[in-house]
Amino acid sequence: MQLSLLQGMVGEGELRLLQGVLDAVRTGLFVFDAGQRLVLWNHWMEQHSQQPAGSVLGKSFAELFPEMVDGRTHIALRAALENSFSSLLSQTLNKSPFPLYATPADLALGQRMQQAVHIMPLQAAGMPRHCLVQVSDVSMAVARERKLREQALELESQTLVDGLTGIANRRRFNVHLEDEFRRAKRNASPLSLIMIDVDYFKDYNDNYGHQRGDSCLAQIAAALAGQLNRSRDLVARYGGEEFTVILPDTTADGALQVAETMRCEVEARQLPHEYSGVAPHVTISLGVSTVVPDLLSTTGGLIHAADRALYQAKRSGRNCVVVYADERPA
Ligand code: GH3
Ligand code: MG
Ligand code: MG
Repeated sequence: MQLSLLQGMVGEGELRLLQGVLDAVRTGLFVFDAGQRLVLWNHWMEQHSQQPAGSVLGKSFAELFPEMVDGRTHIALRAALENSFSSLLSQTLNKSPFPLYATPADLALGQRMQQAVHIMPLQAAGMPRHCLVQVSDVSMAVARERKLREQALELESQTLVDGLTGIANRRRFNVHLEDEFRRAKRNASPLSLIMIDVDYFKDYNDNYGHQRGDSCLAQIAAALAGQLNRSRDLVARYGGEEFTVILPDTTADGALQVAETMRCEVEARQLPHEYSGVAPHVTISLGVSTVVPDLLSTTGGLIHAADRALYQAKRSGRNCVVVYADERPA
């Protein structure tokens, strides 16, 4: 490290103190002159590049970092020298622009440290413009952030409750359906499924806004959940504005009754919907399917059948229940 560029401008003692400070900071600091030649390289840079100041001072940017010529860092350096612009290089685009290593072991592995790089013009009175480059090691912060993100994802994947409506989510639905399907197969008992979709809900959102849309979904979920009596019945948010109900030990007739009660309950709430094509309030369409599982039946088949019935309900004018009828020839 040399402070020759300051020689004669400050006292000898101050110069030594300044040099001590530059060498003590835990940040990489280096300076280019107006001709892009390196005039300062602090101890941190020597440590993490394994390049002593003596071997790099006086060299040009292009000689020092040939692979970075005309890259983002080089452009930022020129903007600082020529136009006095400062830049903070974005972490997302290039996490490790300079060949710097946290430890000699990382150097051996070619594993660069993650860097935050500030580039700023230095304008001292009576001197041509220089450019200061500051580098800090953000590997720890990046690793911590990644860990937090992973933990958040992990927690999210473990949760069984839908955040908006408070009823079961899709994951809980999947697990419960598999359980009940196995049980129905063992006992040769009927298992019913209801698929529910809110009518003209896009128009609701588009006209009343997403927040009221969300609140409407929460009210519909509460209306549906209030109609279930047995402990193994489950209502879940299937996705978006779609809900689903699992009814173990329930025949198609029984499921139709539950579905009809749900449809009526949602209507009875009289949630205003001026933009619906069926009624001045919010309504739902429902599709019902039932299976007594045998060797060939699957949960996918049961869901598909309820979906088909729901599609028929939409085609029949909405705000109604359709029970799936097997379309295969007898
Ligand atoms: P249809 O009667 O045929 O079901 O018409 P639709 O408008 O309800 O059907 P579509 O599937 O085209 O629109 C669903 C809309 O539901 C899209 C989106 O605006 C809204 N939606 C889906 N998920 C959410 C959500 O979580 N919150 C809110 N507010 N709106 C949602
Ligand atoms: Mg839909
Ligand atoms: Mg809909």
